[in-house]
Amino acid sequence: MSYAVKEMFLTLQGEGVNAGRRAVFVRFAGCNLWSGREQDRATAICRFCDTDFVGTGGEGGARFADAAALAEAAAGFWGEGRAERFCVLTGGEPMLQVDDALVDALHAAGFTIAIESNGTLAVHPGIDWVCISPKAGSEVAQRSGDELKLVWPQPGTDVDALESWDFAHLLAQPLDTGSVEGNAASEAEAIALVMARPRWRLTLQAHKRLGLR
Ligand code: SF4
Repeated sequence: MSYAVKEMFLTLQGEGVNAGRRAVFVRFAGCNLWSGREQDRATAICRFCDTDFVGTGGEGGARFADAAALAEAAAGFWGEGRAERFCVLTGGEPMLQVDDALVDALHAAGFTIAIESNGTLAVHPGIDWVCISPKAGSEVAQRSGDELKLVWPQPGTDVDALESWDFAHLLAQPLDTGSVEGNAASEAEAIALVMARPRWRLTLQAHKRLGLR
């Protein structure tokens, strides 16, 4: 099958347990919780998205004809050397497109594969690092993995229920409101959550502060 990728680039992972790690980001086009069009945001299940995942026109984006072509492009962004190759499949919702062929092709190219998913679809079992960011109002199918990253505050979220899921790491990430005052309020609420629930840790979006993508 072919794959619609909005953009692909080499950067540092900015958030979560792997923050600071060199990574090729593969941003798949499309999401099942929002169309990506502003006129649909108010009625979407997920309304706080800060990512453009529509189409294939971003830098490094394309419709790749097959898994080998996508993996070859990712390897090209990584550059010389196969050691420690690391890619992050994100979106949009990557599990709308990730399949056996792509996981095999990326592994064959030497990549450790991480995914950032909303969890509404079961994650491919070949993925090496599973990060799920649940969205209030959605039905989460993938309730196990390496890290659960909760954007906070998020009204309608049952934090007790999330704690019963099977994740090695529980992370609270302040909601990016787009304003200095709003972000300060989000940070205060995320800090309060972690202070009240010691299993959780705070994660910040370092790539934004560093001017990285
Ligand atoms: S689930 Fe993720 S990609 Fe989809 S609209 Fe929400 S934040 Fe954006």
